[in-house]
Amino acid sequence: MSLSPILKKLLFVRQFSIDNGKIDLLGGREIMLNASAILELQDIDETKLYDLGKKSGFKSISGAVEHAKVYKKMKDVFIDEIADLSKKIGQTDEGTIRMLQDIFNVYGLGEMSIQKIDNRGKEALVAVRESTIAQEWVSKYKKHSKSPVCTLTAGVLAGVFSYLMGKQIDCVETQCLAQGKSYCLFKIA
Ligand SMILES: [Zn+2]
Repeated sequence: MSLSPILKKLLFVRQFSIDNGKIDLLGGREIMLNASAILELQDIDETKLYDLGKKSGFKSISGAVEHAKVYKKMKDVFIDEIADLSKKIGQTDEGTIRMLQDIFNVYGLGEMSIQKIDNRGKEALVAVRESTIAQEWVSKYKKHSKSPVCTLTAGVLAGVFSYLMGKQIDCVETQCLAQGKSYCLFKIA
C-alpha cells in the first residue's frame, strides 16, 4: 500500500481513519468527491467556489492545529510539530515547510511545494505539480485553457495561508497546467 508519510503517522496515532462511512482526519470529518464534481461547481459559480475553498482550507489547518494542541498530552513529537505550525511559519524552517506541504498533499489537489515565503511581507509563492483540477479540465474540454483554472486550489491556499499569517490574504493563480505550462503557480499576498 502506498500512503503519504503524514497519513502513515496519523494512522499510527489514530488521527486518521476511513471506516463505517466516516473519514476522520485530525478530529475533522472529510468527504471524498470525484474531481469532475468540482469542475461542475466551478461552472455554476467560480467566486463562491473560491470562497468555499478558502473557508475549508482555513478550517482544515486551524482545526488540525487546535486538535493537535489538545493531543499534545500524547507527548508525540510529530503532533507537537503540527500544533506549533502557526507559530513557526515564516521562519523558513525546513521542517515546518515540509509539514505544511505534507498536510496540503493529503487533500489530493496536487503536489504542493512552497517556493518562497516572506512572513514579514506576508507573501508566498507556491507551486502545485500535477494539479487534479487542471488535469480534469484538460480531459473534459480536450484543449488548453486561455486562463488558469485551479480556482478551488487557489481558495484552499488562501485559507491555509490566512490562518498561518494571521490575517485575511488572497491567492491568485499566475500560471496553470491547463494552459500548457509544466506546473501551476500561485501567488499569495
Ligand atoms: Zn492550475
